[in-house]
Amino acid sequence: MSRDFLTDKPLYDITKFTTLDFHENLACIFWFCKCNMRCPYCYNTPIVFGEGTISLQTALKFLETRQNRLTGVVLSGGECTLYPHLKELCQEIKNLGFKIKIDTNGTNPNLIKDLVKNQLVDYIALDYKAPKEKFEEITKNRNFDDFEKSLQFLINNNFTFEARTTVHSNLLNISDINTIIDDLHKRNYTQTYYLQNYLHVEDTIGKIPEQSKPIDTKKINNKIKVSLREF
Ligand code: SF4
Repeated sequence: MSRDFLTDKPLYDITKFTTLDFHENLACIFWFCKCNMRCPYCYNTPIVFGEGTISLQTALKFLETRQNRLTGVVLSGGECTLYPHLKELCQEIKNLGFKIKIDTNGTNPNLIKDLVKNQLVDYIALDYKAPKEKFEEITKNRNFDDFEKSLQFLINNNFTFEARTTVHSNLLNISDINTIIDDLHKRNYTQTYYLQNYLHVEDTIGKIPEQSKPIDTKKINNKIKVSLREF
């Protein structure tokens, strides 16, 4: 297999150490440029709109220096599954002995299936952005069907993953959250569903204001296990 892709520069940055982003792993994060969504609350504007400056060669050399110190690599962004050689990169990372977590919006189900079937990913954080009816309005992306395929595939294969939603109450109300929970329940999702409260920053894609009134978490239905972050 050609390794020419290693000279590609899809990375905006590398976070060299995190204990928070990959459960039970000391990890680093590779931040991939570009995204096929435009969520109004996204604060990763330089990553979504920017150009990569770090080559995969450089990233792998960094990993070689961390082989006995880190256990995992998080592939995040942006949307890392847009990068055409992600599978080959995962193989390179696996060859160095690291576990891999992927943060994704789920719009590339074929790649997700391929990575899972080939044991090239250990954990996935899958954004469930909004109920189908609001998906395009919030993400500016029409691929709910692809997201849905990723979600159902991971459930059907008993893969270890989390579904998660960022909540800005100007965009999603309690009824939307409960619609998502109903849907996850109907699909036999048995893992924890994470709700992440939006924390205000100035420079978001949609220049979104602070939440006028946070959702009432007491009204969240309990059909599945829900964990609240930053509420
Ligand atoms: S929050 Fe939305 S726009 Fe930002 S990186 Fe994630 S999917 Fe892309």
